Amino acid sequence: MTVAVAVAGCVGGASGGPGGSDGSDGPGSAGVGDPYFPKAGNGGYDVSHYALDLAYDPAAHHLTGTATITARATEDLTALNLDLEGLDVERVTVDGGRARWRRAGQELTVRPAKRLDRGRKFRVVVRYSGAPVTVTDPDGSEEGWLRTADGAVALGQPTGSMAWFPGNHHPSDKATYTVTATVPKGLRAVSNGEPAGERTKGGRTAFTWRTTEPMASYLAVLAVGRYEIGRTMTRGGLPVHTAVDPRQAAASRAVLARLPEAVEWAEGWFGPYPFSSAGAIVERPGDAGYALETQNRPVFAGAPSTLLLVHELAHQWYGNSVTPKTWRDMWLNEGFATYAEWLWREDHGDGTAQETFDAMYAGTYFPDTATNETVWSFPPARPPEAADISGVPVYQRGAMVLHRIRRTVGDDAFRALLRGWAAKHRHGNADTADFTAYVQRSAPDEDFDGIWSDWLYGEGKPARPSNP
Ligand SMILES: [Zn+2]
Repeated sequence: MTVAVAVAGCVGGASGGPGGSDGSDGPGSAGVGDPYFPKAGNGGYDVSHYALDLAYDPAAHHLTGTATITARATEDLTALNLDLEGLDVERVTVDGGRARWRRAGQELTVRPAKRLDRGRKFRVVVRYSGAPVTVTDPDGSEEGWLRTADGAVALGQPTGSMAWFPGNHHPSDKATYTVTATVPKGLRAVSNGEPAGERTKGGRTAFTWRTTEPMASYLAVLAVGRYEIGRTMTRGGLPVHTAVDPRQAAASRAVLARLPEAVEWAEGWFGPYPFSSAGAIVERPGDAGYALETQNRPVFAGAPSTLLLVHELAHQWYGNSVTPKTWRDMWLNEGFATYAEWLWREDHGDGTAQETFDAMYAGTYFPDTATNETVWSFPPARPPEAADISGVPVYQRGAMVLHRIRRTVGDDAFRALLRGWAAKHRHGNADTADFTAYVQRSAPDEDFDGIWSDWLYGEGKPARPSNP
């Protein structure tokens, strides 16, 4: 994600009781223990695939959906929970048999006719419909289902995906996806992965998109509207699919033309691009309050700058392929994507990363004093609460942590370290402890203790480094 400045917090947790349980024979828990979003995700199973068959009519603001969720039980389950916010559930089956279900807040508790034994693969089908809702985050930003002038865009960081499909909505459970969205003829539906067919019948067009690499549900996107479609390739043969609101097409043309070049530049620093296509979705300014690194194809609210394009592209390695284990590890996304901007500027004659670091440290980077001071308001690896996971320190001080590591190991070792981290956890999950252990192992003769204690975990502004 990219936000200019963090928004002050509001809004507590979602209402409703937990569906969870106790006992090895009971249902999986109603959450996976995320320190900031305790109800996000669910215990007791692991999803391998979501097949979402959706239809949306923007004029009526009505969504109908059938979600087919293929999963494996990781404990004996007499019931299991899915996360779903709003919408009306009409029917639930497990392995073809009718299942009982109940709802409490964002928890949809499904009780199959027969116990699901640990290790068993099973399929839950949920049929639902209604007016999908917009979710307000603890930091005041909006996600979930966002209506636009000509359709809608669904964004999910951190918890908005539960507003358009039931699932195990926590970054720790990644899965493949097939999304088919049927929309009125003349509109298009754009999602993650690659296009896998479109068919017009009876005044409506169904668009299918297939994501074959693992994806955290917060990175799923569905954009419905009028778009100019672009299809090109990098020199390395990577398909690039773009969908641009016609009113943003002129302003987007030059920057999107640089996407193949940006992918090649990023591969030089981060290693092979981790997915089977790249791209972008450009909506109008105000359609969303921020840009988001939705997998394969980030969403931009208005024509992006080159630096914003680079930021969201870097997330394909850091965040989308190497995904945080919990929302506490957000700096592993944002610190890296921010540092990618610093590297891009350095490689394109727009100030060295050291100069950016120095300006950040001196408090001259942002135009106003208050934002410059915000950089020191909390340690990047320990945001105080849910409202802070997209705060300035997570981005800027997170990038400063990486720069301190670079200054300690040298440029060549740092490049190897960035690539090695992306390779080691490719298509997986990792947390901050994994990262610090990885860095220490990569350079066993160096001492990183001060970086961890002062820059990563320490309160307040660290002392000026002696090896700047
Ligand atoms: Zn970001």
